[in-house]
Amino acid sequence: MRPAPRGECRQCWEHAYNSRRAHKHLAPRENCPECVSHMVNGHPDQMIVK
Ligand SMILES: [Zn+2]
Ligand SMILES: [Zn+2]
Repeated sequence: MRPAPRGECRQCWEHAYNSRRAHKHLAPRENCPECVSHMVNGHPDQMIVK
């Protein structure tokens, strides 16, 4: 487990490094709806590590 560093989005970090299960059914460079939503709308401020 690697904790998300400052400035990173917790959800996207978790998905990418700690809970790949969330992306297991996806292609290597594909993202789940939650991550896609972040890419389109931006990462919610409260999810960014302070
Ligand atoms: Zn994010
Ligand atoms: Zn994801």
